[in-house]
Amino acid sequence: MTTKHSDVLIVGGGSIGLNAAYYLLKSGRKVSIVDAKEIGKGSSSGNAGHIVPSHIIPLAAPGVVTSALKWMLDPSHSPFGMKVSLDPKYILWLLQFVTACSEANVTRGIPPLNSLGQLSARNFIQMIAEEKFDCHHQEKGLLFLYKTEKAMQDGVHEGELMQKHGIPVSVYDRNKIHEVEPAALGDIIGGVHFTGDSHLDPAVFLDLLRERVRAMGAEMFENTAVTGFESANGKILKVKTSAGDFSAEQIVLAAGAWTPAVARDLRLDIPIQPGRGYSMTMSATKQMPSHALILGERRVAVSPMNHLLRFTGRLEVGVGSTVPDPRWIQRIENAAREYLRLDEQLDVKETWAGLRPTTPDGMPIIGRAAKYSNLILATGHAMLGLSLGPGTGQVVAELVNGKESAFDLSPLRLERF
Ligand SMILES: Cc1cc2nc3c(=O)[nH]c(=O)nc-3n(C[C@H](O)[C@H](O)[C@H](O)COP(=O)(O)OP(=O)(O)OC[C@H]3O[C@@H](n4cnc5c(N)ncnc54)[C@H](O)[C@@H]3O)c2cc1C
Repeated sequence: MTTKHSDVLIVGGGSIGLNAAYYLLKSGRKVSIVDAKEIGKGSSSGNAGHIVPSHIIPLAAPGVVTSALKWMLDPSHSPFGMKVSLDPKYILWLLQFVTACSEANVTRGIPPLNSLGQLSARNFIQMIAEEKFDCHHQEKGLLFLYKTEKAMQDGVHEGELMQKHGIPVSVYDRNKIHEVEPAALGDIIGGVHFTGDSHLDPAVFLDLLRERVRAMGAEMFENTAVTGFESANGKILKVKTSAGDFSAEQIVLAAGAWTPAVARDLRLDIPIQPGRGYSMTMSATKQMPSHALILGERRVAVSPMNHLLRFTGRLEVGVGSTVPDPRWIQRIENAAREYLRLDEQLDVKETWAGLRPTTPDGMPIIGRAAKYSNLILATGHAMLGLSLGPGTGQVVAELVNGKESAFDLSPLRLERF
């Protein structure tokens, strides 16, 4: 079998790989994408579709470990779970995560997450307008609903911190929240509205992006799993796949939660654990929520998407299966019923599980790998891989083309670990 040669080869065709392809093609590069399965699906298509430049605080922050432990005392409602395993890589990841839950990590994380989030939000608006993508993009913000004073106070406190970094935030009392979101049940006491956020239907967006990228000339290889690499003198010479070998001037590794396994031959020690989560998607209900929501105490996300409604939730660290657990799907529905006026019977169209590629400091890994002159990493976006997609795509294109990015990428490099 002959080796196929590409200018830029992207490994993984989820949100990150497709966005990278789009900005590389726009910059005049030739692109091939290989994916073990279908392009435009991965862990990206069934997610909540929230575009959240407000999310500037990394997942690893003070108080997170205490909250996680408290949640786990209530196993049938906990939005958080974890695998029990003595795998040394997993234990090391957990230790790194616990250590990173500090003010110093938050201070380090806010500038790159803020810059990348703002860039992405601008790029979404531009791309959707320029390409005329009809993906049900709604610029109505993200609204947190609260039932208890304690959770509301914590939400307001977090909002104040974000406001200091330029994020627009409105706080609503009981009267105002019911005026703004009529689908909320009577015992919702208030809300916090991140008015600069938006949402869309991620499956529709990714289908449109995949077809646009194909029309711009990308070569796409589905059902083509990368099985290994050959390298010499700090350069990757061959990418071995289930459908033959590839070579490329530049390689972008965007294999999400599978990145550490894909990169095994490269001996890069990429600290990513899967963070499994679930979604259920149903036909529109009689009283559709008018906003993208987060149900505060239960940490369930709600996304009205034209004629569909989606609930998503749960973070299970270390769990690598994408088979949805029906008990958790039911619990997510139960949680939604605690906050929203819903039909007695929901017309469920799909249940889904996806793997968030989660790093121990809660920030993505974006940059050239120091060990290989032709390898760029774009992974580890955890809960933000849709939201940060177009920003990451632009940054990847800049890295491939040797251009300087508009903000400092050093906090996102693999070598920080
Ligand atoms: C329940 C849930 C809700 C979420 N909600 C949101 C949200 O509202 N907003 C947001 O921004 N983010 C959200 N996320 C997170 C987001 O979905 C992820 O961050 C995102 O999917 C990561 O994108 P990715 O392209 O890095 O990985 P993926 O989309 O997983 O793509 C990786 C690709 O690599 C391919 N691959 C794997 N192994 C190989 C191999 N050996 N060779 C070739 N290809 C391979 C896979 O098939 C896959 O297509 C949510 C996640 C979950 C689970």
